[in-house]
Amino acid sequence: MEKYRVVSFSGGKDSTAMLLRLMELGEPIDEVIWCDTYKEFPAMYRHVGKIKSVVEAAGIKFTELKSDVSFDYYMFEKPVKRKRKYINEKYNNPLGFSWAGPLMRWCTRALKIDVINKYLSRLYKRFDVIQYTGIAADEQYRLERKNNEEHIHPLVTWGWTEQMCLEYCYSKGYDWEGLYKLFDRVSCWCCPLQSLENLRTLRKNFPDLWEELRQMDKRTWRNFRADYTVERLEKRFALEDERTAQGLTINPRSKEFRAALKSVGG
Ligand code: SF4
Repeated sequence: MEKYRVVSFSGGKDSTAMLLRLMELGEPIDEVIWCDTYKEFPAMYRHVGKIKSVVEAAGIKFTELKSDVSFDYYMFEKPVKRKRKYINEKYNNPLGFSWAGPLMRWCTRALKIDVINKYLSRLYKRFDVIQYTGIAADEQYRLERKNNEEHIHPLVTWGWTEQMCLEYCYSKGYDWEGLYKLFDRVSCWCCPLQSLENLRTLRKNFPDLWEELRQMDKRTWRNFRADYTVERLEKRFALEDERTAQGLTINPRSKEFRAALKSVGG
């Protein structure tokens, strides 16, 4: 079968660096695929748009994939048959999967993996598909977890770490409007699996998205995180701002801070 080279592009720093460098080296690429989760940062959509223009200008096919069913439908409206019956009892037969958790990343499966695999399975019928994936040289654990012979990892071959990828992208003029200066990882802005620090940053720098997150949390039945609802996070972060302005401690180990947090319900 004819070989067909596909670049899996997430929009992030590693796959952007891999794609740009492969193009710079003149490596043959037949298609670049990107999958929209519906919840990317606005700056990420703009970045993907820029890369798409560059890829298409080079005569390479750029395919945008997206589930027909939206993130919000899955989260709030989908009727779900649940094995854990206590959920139905406790929340009165709730609709939707609600927030993802560490053991139940329904969104990664439904909005990314299944959509991409469905598309690739059609290509596999016609071609000998070779997939380039952007795993950085210092992410070896991901390779060990899911090594696949049809996948090629140029960043590992080149010895490019995550930091090197970011610097390479910056040197080529791609800066995601500062997203990587604010966040250590850039994924869906509403991801409940991101760190507390990233959520603090989201609230401070993207108030509109933070407000949307608060509204999303009000519409659903599952806690945003095991330890926090978004409303409680709002109380905590507001208290932190207030105390910082007054020169008071916000160290979570401080008894004084914990007492103040309790008093505001955070
Ligand atoms: S980044 Fe978070 S919200 Fe987005 S698909 Fe992955 S687990 Fe789900």
